[in-house]
Amino acid sequence: MKYISTRGQAPALSFADVLLAGLAEDGGLYVPEQLPTFSQDEIASWSGLPYSELAFRIVQPFVAGSIQDADLKRMVDETYAVFDHSGVAPLVQLRPNEWILELFHGPTLAFKDFALQLLGRLMDHVLAERGERLVIMGATSGDTGSAAIEGCRHSKHLDIFIMHPYNRVSEVQRRQMTTILADNVFNIALEGNFDDCQGMVKDSFADQAFLNGMKLGAVNSINWARIMAQIVYYFSAALAVGGPHRPVSFSVPTGNFGDIFAGYLAKQMGLPVEQLVVATNRNDILHRVISGNDMSKGTLEHTLSPSMDIMVSSNFERLLFDVYGRDGAAIADLMQRFRSEPVQLESSRWEKVRALFDSYAVDDQTTCDVIRDVHAETGYLLDPHTAIGLKAARECWRNTHTPMITLATAHPVKFPEPVVKAGLNAPELPERLSDLMEREERFTVLPNNLSDVQAYVASHVHRD
Ligand SMILES: *Cc1c(COP(=O)(O)O)cnc(C)c1O
Repeated sequence: MKYISTRGQAPALSFADVLLAGLAEDGGLYVPEQLPTFSQDEIASWSGLPYSELAFRIVQPFVAGSIQDADLKRMVDETYAVFDHSGVAPLVQLRPNEWILELFHGPTLAFKDFALQLLGRLMDHVLAERGERLVIMGATSGDTGSAAIEGCRHSKHLDIFIMHPYNRVSEVQRRQMTTILADNVFNIALEGNFDDCQGMVKDSFADQAFLNGMKLGAVNSINWARIMAQIVYYFSAALAVGGPHRPVSFSVPTGNFGDIFAGYLAKQMGLPVEQLVVATNRNDILHRVISGNDMSKGTLEHTLSPSMDIMVSSNFERLLFDVYGRDGAAIADLMQRFRSEPVQLESSRWEKVRALFDSYAVDDQTTCDVIRDVHAETGYLLDPHTAIGLKAARECWRNTHTPMITLATAHPVKFPEPVVKAGLNAPELPERLSDLMEREERFTVLPNNLSDVQAYVASHVHRD
């Protein structure tokens, strides 16, 4: 399988190269040259497979030519064995045809474990084969960082530097990152917001001279391998509620458009999906684009669902590449203009986006109301991101004969504030994290300044 850039100017690469490169040289994102597709019969034959078997079947065509089947099988098995639930991604029913897909049974209690536990293993495997080392730089609004650190802490061939916005992630989230005291793990608390962190990562990729010949790798969802791993649970959930013979719909709490993009890919690969609902908080650029063709940045607001406090959704570019007929020059031009001004999509392109997605934006007050009401009705406790997904699902659901599956992207214990605001007791930490609040922390606070950050990274990498 070959991968091409959304901006059309970078060379096509193999899976292994894309895995290590992250962003393409031309500033674009890598996507498969051609998606694998599966027939309904083939998908139906996967019913009842253990999660890791299903993952192997779906991921295999994407890595063909780069990773041997036996190695992939082993890494996939190891990845999903560390999840706390035997079903890995279990479904919970709230109302008739209304389901919650629990994606928080991994080590850091958010859906990002699905991809990052695998990513760390894949990277270490390829680096070992090549006899190379890699420097990971990543930005996090909370969950990516902990999942990436957890996925990479045992890697022998890479150092990982994770930047989070200082004082703007929850204490549980911070401690999940800063209490990992491995030698190859570096936590940076940046005096800025998430977009500042992400901007620094992007600028560092664009000019890697500060690393004196070492190479940078990415764990943000610009890394194709993350999207790839997330496709799997759309299939597993659909199979569990009667797919592929019956279409299903999904509602996805969205920040960087990574998770929902994986759902779009599942559909392109042959899974019958009726609706894909994009659920946002007040940082609603995606809702504004989809509902009104208004792609303008606005100001970033801090909400009770901080993992979605993102104004520039990187992965939306991957979708635009498809709706613009894979015209890299058109995407390069559009993204260039979007850096400095609001843009509108050509109307025929926007119509395609609208046909593919529904969208809805939810404010903090409504988020708390949903948490409270669902708890009163069913006893089930939602995290704020999932509450936004569920609210959007209910608002956008056109045909209630089609199962609607809302992705539960985090365990509510990670975000106690809205739970308490909803008048409920904050949930307790699960067993595996019960001593989190007593563990030793290690992190470095740095000013919101690119050269300070780069100097810190350059002076801490292990060169051999
Ligand atoms: C990362 C995250 C999201 C947003 O996912 P994207 O792939 O960036 O759209 C939503 N909810 C939680 C809890 C997250 O950690």
